[in-house]
Amino acid sequence: MARVYNFSAGPAVLPEEVLREAADEMLDYRGTGMSVMEMSHRSKAYDTIIKEAEADLRDLMKIPDNYKVLFLQGGASQQFAMIPMNLMKNGVADYIVTGQWAKKAYQEASIYGKANKIASSEDETFSYIPDCSDLPISEDADYVYICENNTIYGTKFKTLPNTKGKTLVADVSSCFLSEPVDVTRYGVIYGGVQKNIGPAGVVIVIIREDLITEEVLPGTPTMLRYKTHSDNASLYNTPPAYGIYICGKVFKWLKEKGGLEAMKEYNEKKAQILYDYLDESKLFRGTVRREDRSLMNVPFVTGNEELDAKFVKEAKEAGFENLKGHRSVGGMRASIYNAMPVEGVEKLVEFMRKFEAENI
Ligand SMILES: *Cc1c(COP(=O)(O)O)cnc(C)c1O
Repeated sequence: MARVYNFSAGPAVLPEEVLREAADEMLDYRGTGMSVMEMSHRSKAYDTIIKEAEADLRDLMKIPDNYKVLFLQGGASQQFAMIPMNLMKNGVADYIVTGQWAKKAYQEASIYGKANKIASSEDETFSYIPDCSDLPISEDADYVYICENNTIYGTKFKTLPNTKGKTLVADVSSCFLSEPVDVTRYGVIYGGVQKNIGPAGVVIVIIREDLITEEVLPGTPTMLRYKTHSDNASLYNTPPAYGIYICGKVFKWLKEKGGLEAMKEYNEKKAQILYDYLDESKLFRGTVRREDRSLMNVPFVTGNEELDAKFVKEAKEAGFENLKGHRSVGGMRASIYNAMPVEGVEKLVEFMRKFEAENI
């Protein structure tokens, strides 16, 4: 068996310990004689799995009691519609557009109401986070929306925007559980789990209770109402049961590793190794403003497309997978999520040094 260093942006690397444990439990989950995949979501065994997953996530993120945790489907992209359908009571929301995902969310919201783009960094290909300390927040905005970590461009909000008292909604797909977070500053925190937590097919929504109401936009399907899932503890219909089980194992893994404080330290250490090298390299350079750099997604280029392609190819041959940048930006991108070991980053930098020496 040969595991590669997988720098994919998502679906992405998962902790090897978690995969091994899941493999051990594949045919007979703890004496039930069946796989979790084959199990009724109404069974006692599954009830324990989903309740423990929620409890461990609450523990990790210190989620207050007045927030619900929902395990849903449809990916992060489905939330682009669910958020306005459920939250646009006045039919108005403000969007800060810092990348493709925020832009898609903004465009989707425009279908349901008045979505205002109150700030954007598109003028410089989303290579920075705009100053959000004093934005023209709409008087009647139902919420202010951000994508907290921009997976494609590699930028991250280091300070949350000043929403002037309005509810903050954040897509944290690619920075979920990468560092501690003050949940009370948000109305909704959500993310697809395939970036930093588990298998594709699960999206986690952490939402303040008062935002869950009967009053939704006309025509909102039952499945797209937060209340439906909140009233039924994420078991209104069959949930993505196996995916939630793996997420639960990752939560336990994170707790064993020391929780989110420890993860932050570990992630900072890994990112620094790569950024330090990019800053000294004569061949490679990072593509975003230093103070806005993401700890999770690190885009870089040589400035020569042919050389970029050569690098990606040779890196793959050396066991470093998925380093090609997003199709919309080109170049390279190393996603170094929680489960990427520090050795993976060290070896990547070693390989980059060698490539630099050979190609400069
Ligand atoms: C990947 C990603 C999405 C889209 O996720 P899907 O689950 O494929 O819909 C949305 N937002 C961010 C920040 C992402 O990284």
